[in-house]
Amino acid sequence: MLVGPLLIGMPEMRQSSLVVVANRLPIDDSMAPDGACEWRRSPGGLVNALHPLLRHTPATWVGWAGGTGLAPTLPDVDGVRMHTVPLNADDLRDHYEGFANATLWPLYHDSVEQPVHRRGWWEAYQRVNQRFAEAAAAVAEPGGAVWVQDYHLQLVPGLLRTLRPDLRIGFFLHVPFPPPELFMQLPRRAELLRGMLGADLIGFQRAQAAHNFAQLVAKVLELPATDRRIGVADRVVRIGAFPVSIDTAEMAALAARPDVAARARRLRQDLGEPEHVILSVDRMDYTKGIEQRLKAYSELIAGGHVKVRDTVLVQVAVPSRERVGQYQILRDRVEREVGRINGEFGRVGEPAIHYLTQPFDRAELAALYGVADVMAVTPLRDGMNLVAKEYVAARVDETGALLLSEFAGSAAELSQAYLVNPHDLEGLKKGVSTSGCSVWTASGTWQLVHQAEAC
Ligand code: UDP
Repeated sequence: MLVGPLLIGMPEMRQSSLVVVANRLPIDDSMAPDGACEWRRSPGGLVNALHPLLRHTPATWVGWAGGTGLAPTLPDVDGVRMHTVPLNADDLRDHYEGFANATLWPLYHDSVEQPVHRRGWWEAYQRVNQRFAEAAAAVAEPGGAVWVQDYHLQLVPGLLRTLRPDLRIGFFLHVPFPPPELFMQLPRRAELLRGMLGADLIGFQRAQAAHNFAQLVAKVLELPATDRRIGVADRVVRIGAFPVSIDTAEMAALAARPDVAARARRLRQDLGEPEHVILSVDRMDYTKGIEQRLKAYSELIAGGHVKVRDTVLVQVAVPSRERVGQYQILRDRVEREVGRINGEFGRVGEPAIHYLTQPFDRAELAALYGVADVMAVTPLRDGMNLVAKEYVAARVDETGALLLSEFAGSAAELSQAYLVNPHDLEGLKKGVSTSGCSVWTASGTWQLVHQAEAC
């Protein structure tokens, strides 16, 4: 049996047949009511997508626990072992905030913000990927399966294959994979592609992403590639689209719980019993189209198409990546705009927008979905967007309307949603009908129209 060099001299290391490798561990530390520190499942699409699977499979999760100190030893959470990878301040700045979130993230999201290229960041990306690969090699059982997640760790499959050729390696990209003309901008494009090809199976959210990847591999590495198989030396790497989803039964059961339904009713009262509640739940990210949505909403109020007393917008915008400059600027701009809209159109006790930045737990989110007549999910580009799927699953009475950007991965599956182009701001103001029950809809524009069946 082949084992990697890191296993030697580490007899006490517990090993698993399934190892998940992701930049973050799926937990956050938070303060319990008695002042003690406790770890709980963290919010985020990746965690929520993998959680249902890991509940039934003994596994180890390799990831960063947050912070820059020594890696803490953590207890198992929901039966999953936590294996911490430490990051120091330089790693955090150059790998996480730098190459991952200021170069790759914007580039992979259609360059909706300008990707930043710094030569020093690449070295950190390699160094941190090597550390994650070594950690995974240490905790994977001989012949085990290692499932590497996302754009922070694209070199890990290749590095891990060198350390542990006995393993079965999967890689899944949660974000979009860009078309060749964008990816080709990356100075290290060949290394990134080679890193991913260390896997036996590479998964994407959409078939278009697998196609983009195959095209790039053929062009940059001159390997034989189709949208399903790539020939690499003596191996075949399989690629394909495997859109992530949620545990719909769990969300439906949560939404149907009497306490959650009661909470939804109370929320509606607290919102002033409006005729229509529009809800958006996002991480604070420039890919989510928050500013465009606010602008459209404000123009609809200004034009008299929406009355603040009848319709409220609840915008949850959980801060993320707050040390990355582009995110600080975005948050400032969003908060200024919310303040302006509320100042201009709100009244005492009647804000136009209920703006919330604290993260909500699953039950509170289910109650919010329950109170929302319209869920507005309008990213400029999004790998999948699980919030859209959660809303549909939570509407156990099959009412409600989902306004969904055609640039969200979930638009490929949720074909009955009102699809919208979030860049089409003029369309937001057009075609308004005020009679009857109003919901947001699309047909290439945002409108308020009569849609009795959605009430
Ligand atoms: N989420 C949460 N609490 C919040 C806001 C979001 O638990 O206050 C969860 C939400 O339920 C969803 C995930 O975070 O499962 C966000 O995933 P999505 O794919 O929509 O976006 P991402 O943040 O991964 O870009």
